[in-house]
Amino acid sequence: GKYTKSDIIRIVEEEDIEFVRLQFTDIFGMLKNVAITASQLEKVLDNKCMFDGSSIEGFARIEESDMYLYPDKDTFEIFPWRPQQGKVARLICDVYTPDGKPFEGDPRYVLKRAIKEASDMGYTFNVGPECEFFLYHTDDNGLPTTISHEKAGYFDLGPVDLGENARRDIVMTLEEIGFEIEASHHEVAPAQHEIDFKYDEALSTADNIMTFKLAVKTIAKRHGLHATFMPKPKYGISGSGMHTNMSLSKDGRNVFDDPTDQLGLSKEAYYFMGGLMKHIKGMTAITNPLVNSYKRLVPGFEAPVYIAWSAKNRSPLIRIPASRGEGTRIELRCPDPSTNPYLTLAVCLAAGLDGIKNQIMPPASVDKNIFAMTKEERIAEQIDSLPSTLMEAIEEMEADSFISQVIGEHISECYISAKKLEWEAYRAQVTEWEIEEYLYKI
Ligand code: GLN
Ligand code: MG
Ligand code: MG
Ligand code: MG
Repeated sequence: GKYTKSDIIRIVEEEDIEFVRLQFTDIFGMLKNVAITASQLEKVLDNKCMFDGSSIEGFARIEESDMYLYPDKDTFEIFPWRPQQGKVARLICDVYTPDGKPFEGDPRYVLKRAIKEASDMGYTFNVGPECEFFLYHTDDNGLPTTISHEKAGYFDLGPVDLGENARRDIVMTLEEIGFEIEASHHEVAPAQHEIDFKYDEALSTADNIMTFKLAVKTIAKRHGLHATFMPKPKYGISGSGMHTNMSLSKDGRNVFDDPTDQLGLSKEAYYFMGGLMKHIKGMTAITNPLVNSYKRLVPGFEAPVYIAWSAKNRSPLIRIPASRGEGTRIELRCPDPSTNPYLTLAVCLAAGLDGIKNQIMPPASVDKNIFAMTKEERIAEQIDSLPSTLMEAIEEMEADSFISQVIGEHISECYISAKKLEWEAYRAQVTEWEIEEYLYKI
């Protein structure tokens, strides 16, 4: 590991750190934390930090509410946005039950379990996400709006935009806490941005996504802006995705790479894709967890709608980016940044491994623009669609027992029942669109 217990105790002392935030993620992808003072550190590093999990959504029942946080020492980091005196650091934790077992409701454990399966097969799962988000103005009370005065578009340089400065500051802050930023740019829609950090082994990447979102929100706030990872904040413009680039390595070599193949892809790469495509409908409620997620998955905004893959164009669900050799990878384009990254990476990995184990070949690639095809043409080519609403996605999840096996019974049950309530709450709403459409003419 990077740090030992005594390293951390020493650093906290030397750096005059006042608080250490013990972080974990609930099943819906919300970052949770409990702060401790330096005086408690020793106890905490001995895995003796108990907390009451009963109020955390989807976490524990009353009778098993006492939980323990086991800090992952390698995740120790000092938050650079805090004052120099009374600094704040964090440790990402695993959640354990009082009898010393990993807690079934801890999404980080779900990902670790999937990773274990991969490592038993000799594989390391590497993932690089592309997180998109909007930077909006806040109102006089500091509350978020969907207003921006920005006019820039894809890859534009908008030096007078507030967002441009904020993004620059976000990138520098992320670098301070060890992120290697590969690219950052303005996205297609006004006020929309993307920052890409370097791929890493899946557990680190999931941790990094959580840290990334916290840093983006924190720094944006300093600039008087509100950062949102909501998948589709506005009708009629692009939504925010979290394209997920994946590869497997074995003995330090990318196993998706095979120069002898026509497309430069190995059998494992094809099977991995086959597994993803087999399970994608059952996974969508995880990769796209909100009612709002499905407002993004519509034609016209570079978001996927149809289940297909291509090495040539960007309309399908899965794209094979041009780089080969060590850079050979599969880009899954449906996930959005509101997802729980631990669960998303766990289901992606498990589905891909299922493909490898059962040698599931994906259908032929579709290299034309699917959005320009008629329904009949799609049917002729057997191109299926992603679920089009949260409810459909939940039904698909219930129909694919493989997914509940991957995320475990506890999370699967909590998740499905919470998402059904979310859908019911939404379904009963009378929207602005309906008023506009019906009030006058009906
Ligand atoms: N914003 C698009 C999405 O919803 C992606 C656009 C892009 O990165 N080319 O996925
Ligand atoms: Mg990108
Ligand atoms: Mg993008
Ligand atoms: Mg991309």
